[in-house]
Amino acid sequence: MVKLDNPVWKTLHSAGNDVNKQLQALLEGDGDSYETIEALAEGLSHQLSWYSATAYVLPHLAALFPSLSKEEQMFLVGRMGAAIAAEADCPLTPGTEAHSEFCEGLDSLRRQITPLLTDAELHALLQEDEELGLMFCLGALAILGDRNHAYGLWYLSGSSWEEGPGACSCGWYDELLPLIEQPDCIQPAEIAAWDKQSLDEESVWLDGLLKAAGDEMVRPILPLLYGTGTCPDCGEQEPYWAWMNRYWEEC
Ligand SMILES: [Zn+2]
Repeated sequence: MVKLDNPVWKTLHSAGNDVNKQLQALLEGDGDSYETIEALAEGLSHQLSWYSATAYVLPHLAALFPSLSKEEQMFLVGRMGAAIAAEADCPLTPGTEAHSEFCEGLDSLRRQITPLLTDAELHALLQEDEELGLMFCLGALAILGDRNHAYGLWYLSGSSWEEGPGACSCGWYDELLPLIEQPDCIQPAEIAAWDKQSLDEESVWLDGLLKAAGDEMVRPILPLLYGTGTCPDCGEQEPYWAWMNRYWEEC
């Protein structure tokens, strides 16, 4: 963890100007914690971009986490999820200080969030605020699951999870596949019911957590996201996630 008075903070980027001050206020319990978390997360996830300050902020947030109420913890995970997921779009280089800070923060958050996912009190909280409940599920995916998948789900929030991109190596691509209409070119995966305990299968626990949060936006397209696409032009079959990644990389 790099202290807030270290000169490196002056070299870090965010979309807000005051990441340092916001983080300090949060750590010192100065001001409304929800407002500070909101402002901090906004500056670190603006337009779903990656900001270098995120890596250095995470260990501090992880250290603060145990002292927060369950509501604050849920809020923090939900609001910080997009900032963490954005690392998938701009991966850090192993061996660098930034990578080590990011991993330190993420590992600690992972350990602390895992028991929350199977906590009945948290499941009840998830239902109280539909939007925040959904954001918490996506944040949990960014921390515990595949960050590429989490980034994809935040990206699809721009179309309210109704349309998604795909591209095949043959050159075929579609910017707006109508996922909500269950297009023929994607064979949906079968997602088993979650036992509310196991975190072995990402699609299963994510679907189960979304269900616990009362989600009706993401769950309908989840079998497609974890499903298999068949290219309308060349017939090659690939996981839909691979289509989405190729679209980002090449289109
Ligand atoms: Zn093709």
